[in-house]
Amino acid sequence: MHNTIQEPYEAVIGLEIHIQLLTDSKMFSSDKAEYGALPNTNLSPITLACPGSLPQVNKIAFDHAIKLGLACESTITPLNYFARKSYFYPDLPKGFQITQDTTPICCGGFVMIYPKEGEEKKINLTRIHLEEDTGKSLHGIVDDVTLLDYNRAGIPLLELVTAPVIKSGADAYQFVAEIRKLVRYLEISDGNMEEGSLRCDVNISVMAQGSVILGTRVEVKNINSMRSVQLAVEYEIERQIALLEAGQPVLAETRNFQVVSGETIALRAKEIAGEYRYFPEPNIPPVYVSPAWIAEVQKTMPLLPRTFAQKFIAAYGLSYDVAAILTENKAFALFFDEVCIHMNHYGAAANWLLGPIKGYLNQMSLSLSELSVTAKQIAELTELVESGLVGFSIAASQILPVLLQEINASPRLLAERLNVLQERDEDKLQALVLAAVQAYPDKVVEYQNGKKGLLAMFMGEIMKNSQGRANAKRASQLLQEALEG
Ligand code: ADP
Ligand code: MG
Repeated sequence: MHNTIQEPYEAVIGLEIHIQLLTDSKMFSSDKAEYGALPNTNLSPITLACPGSLPQVNKIAFDHAIKLGLACESTITPLNYFARKSYFYPDLPKGFQITQDTTPICCGGFVMIYPKEGEEKKINLTRIHLEEDTGKSLHGIVDDVTLLDYNRAGIPLLELVTAPVIKSGADAYQFVAEIRKLVRYLEISDGNMEEGSLRCDVNISVMAQGSVILGTRVEVKNINSMRSVQLAVEYEIERQIALLEAGQPVLAETRNFQVVSGETIALRAKEIAGEYRYFPEPNIPPVYVSPAWIAEVQKTMPLLPRTFAQKFIAAYGLSYDVAAILTENKAFALFFDEVCIHMNHYGAAANWLLGPIKGYLNQMSLSLSELSVTAKQIAELTELVESGLVGFSIAASQILPVLLQEINASPRLLAERLNVLQERDEDKLQALVLAAVQAYPDKVVEYQNGKKGLLAMFMGEIMKNSQGRANAKRASQLLQEALEG
């Protein structure tokens, strides 16, 4: 659609991503940090900034921030100060937000994106800092009235800011996808964009190709899907180029992305930092993140998506694409890894997971944790097929459904019970071949006169008569011998 950027211009994109952290309580109080509670029930005087209330920092939120920083190879700031960012908005009960201004907990670092096989791009980060969320304004529930729910106010957030180094809408999409995957692997956020756990502001400018001076940036606020991130970027690039081509300036403004029309519309002129009147938060002493604390968090680091993918490619010989799909979700990657402990038909096991198992989970709207079949059973099932004891389609259509119902059943014993073990007995296979050949004497003649395609017809007959159990490879050899004999 808006995909191509005209030659003389170059786009520059920087993202700011707000990540809602998974913690039991809020950033500066013991109020519950839960989604979907009755409005205005998770509120204490601290969240409302009643006079005399004193905020206290949430250690788990710090642990989460350090974890993300370590995953991105950022420098962790030892001495963390908090600041007040003042602005007036109805969903901000205090009239200011507590955030980190001069000492973000993570400085620098990077995240790799993989636009296509064999290609990787390093996206540098400027900073990641801790702050608190605002409340929520609800429009359209009562006519002409805005309702306010302060439950979200004070929930811990990380704001991650990239350097202006992203070059296209597609790369911006990839970046958000990587961040979502990363926070889910780290288990620091659920990463759900629809529920607002991951929110994205996109900054876009265009400049002459190869220029060193960046163009004026436009900020598109609060985008809540990866697709919208891409479309907003592509729309803005086109819009800004058109302005420049027409000799008009790009205004530094904050815009909003309209999902239905795919356009951005102006909201307001961009605020400048001075308007926020940042000043040190007087009620929170600086938080010292010691090397010992960082080492503690380091111990809890899981394998990252990239490490898993590299392992799957190197140790299990999977293709880049299959490894990418298997590592999309941490539970899946772990499960596959466990299956591989029990057997060595890695590619076949990946097919089982990405085919019948994923299909079943999707169909039943289940997550992997709700699957009753164990990694060991999948391994056995894979082995059963790969060793030629049962055909794949029979295993998938007859053994797997029973396996899903009967906890702890053995695929091998099920195969016997269901009588689906492949027929490998030479005499029995010969009898099947003979029956098929004798049933169609005229087709045998046609075959012998050169119509080799009829082989499939005879095989179909054999498979039908054996209820799908004939060992296809051996039956096909015997059939050809019989026909050509
Ligand atoms: P603010 O809070 O005012 O939006 P930040 O410094 O937090 O400022 O965020 C700025 C974001 O905008 C960063 O992601 C940065 O990479 C990006 N950015 C800065 N200048 C440009 C530009 N000229 N074009 C595109 N993106 C830019
Ligand atoms: Mg911004």
